[in-house]
Amino acid sequence: MQQNAIRKIVIVGGGTAGWMTAAPLAQRLGRRCEIVLVESPEIGTIGVGEATLPTIRFYNSVLGLDHADFVKKTQATFKLGIEFKDWGHVGNRFFHGFGDFGPLLNGIQPHHYWLRLARTFDQMPAMDNWSMASVMARTNKFAMPSDAQPQVTDAFTFGYQFDAGLYAAYLRDYAMARGAQRIEGKITGVDQHPETGFVTAVRLDDGRAIGGDLFIDCSGFRALLIEGALKTGYDDWSEYLPCNSALAVPSARVAPLTPYTRSTAKGAGWLWRIPLQHRTGNGHVYSNAFTTDEQARQDLLDGLDGAALDEPRQLRFVTGKRKKSWVKNVVAIGLSAGFVEPLESTSISLIETATGTLLELFPDREFRPELANEFNRLINSRYESIRDFIIMHYKLTKRDDTEFWRHCANMKIPDTLAEQIELFRETGRVTIRDRDSFGLPSFVSMFVGLGIEPKRYDPFVDEVDIRQLHGHFAGLRDLIAQAAAKMPDHAAFLASNPKA
Ligand code: FAD
Repeated sequence: MQQNAIRKIVIVGGGTAGWMTAAPLAQRLGRRCEIVLVESPEIGTIGVGEATLPTIRFYNSVLGLDHADFVKKTQATFKLGIEFKDWGHVGNRFFHGFGDFGPLLNGIQPHHYWLRLARTFDQMPAMDNWSMASVMARTNKFAMPSDAQPQVTDAFTFGYQFDAGLYAAYLRDYAMARGAQRIEGKITGVDQHPETGFVTAVRLDDGRAIGGDLFIDCSGFRALLIEGALKTGYDDWSEYLPCNSALAVPSARVAPLTPYTRSTAKGAGWLWRIPLQHRTGNGHVYSNAFTTDEQARQDLLDGLDGAALDEPRQLRFVTGKRKKSWVKNVVAIGLSAGFVEPLESTSISLIETATGTLLELFPDREFRPELANEFNRLINSRYESIRDFIIMHYKLTKRDDTEFWRHCANMKIPDTLAEQIELFRETGRVTIRDRDSFGLPSFVSMFVGLGIEPKRYDPFVDEVDIRQLHGHFAGLRDLIAQAAAKMPDHAAFLASNPKA
């Protein structure tokens, strides 16, 4: 062990972020470094956060989780993407599926060919017919990518929808089996070094002090260390993303069990619907400047497919991110680092990114500032690329039926996003600013789904005979539809609970 190695890590908070951080740290360092997690059952966790991105599979596999066991213990279902209803305009319905739109053709992205076909043939089916994930989702089918027909194996991927509380408990057992310790208690104070400002200990209401070398702030919106003690500051993005409230309620499971999350745009926000094995998670994300809490509650209850199992729970948030996630010897992960509404289920993926990046840049007790700078650069860039992707969902609306949607259509947006939209509108091309975040098929799904009709497509597309092209696309569509038809129902697949 190097002389200056970290000897003790204190994780503040035992929500999804706390245990998702404790698990890989315990896996790597559990035997040679003390890992202590402090949580307060009295304060509790936020209790939402059920839909994920496909990146969660990488996180789980690095931990070596048993897939079948994880699915069973967290009541998980498979997620092939998101269905968007009434986004763009009322009556609109499309999928953002996880995967691509078929193979490249002469080295060119398939959507360019589709754009040409859509201009030529009036009855050209919507582009998500060439997304394997979307076709499976629409027909409630599921199979592992490795079991699908060879021609479509690379074309789709999946994430999970799970009970966030059960997932945190699952990772708690994992981390504690590898040496992490859990302390119950309410933190009421933070000790800092009088000269450096480094955090030296957290103090509990019963007088205990828990000291450490590295502190990870997973205290949720409270941000006890990164903001409470270190006063880091927050970039408020409300001007771009006006939603600031949510109501969440579980409802009874109803058939069919869909392998996707649904997002339905409403007058001042949107409803989420996340099917799990044992129940459905529902919520309404909205702006209380454009509707009342009572109306939002009614919209949520009116939109349920099954009976409500509880009273809706109210949450408020300020969209944005901490100016820096790593300051001195404190690293903020989870809601303490920032929050962008869950329209594309990005918060848990941000936790994955933060824990992975922390492990890559793991410090010693010298806490070289270069490490924190690099961490902050990477995390800020990820938050900003997600922010832009989410703003685009609102900005591209053609809805003008409420004050909220008129506001979204006219609001100012970051230059980075304005350039992305203009490039697609003019040329059908997509700029990807963060290659580890949403990729080209995701941008194309949303741009086309929300109604952008690019003025041009890749000029090389005109080299191909249009009839041949039409035949090729028709053949590919049939292949995808046939492959999906052979797959089991999502519910039947889950019941068989095969290994990944
Ligand atoms: P929390 O769950 O709030 O945990 C904070 C922890 O800190 C708790 O253990 C608490 O007890 C502890 N704590 C706080 N103060 C003290 C104290 N003084 N002393 C001791 N302990 C303390 N993400 C997704 O990826 N997909 C989704 O579908 C999704 N949906 C969401 C919907 C809504 C409406 C919201 C608001 C968020 C959603 N998220 C989603 C985000 C997701 O819920 C969070 O990213 C995730 O749960 C992580 O939360 P956390 O662990 O940072 O905070």
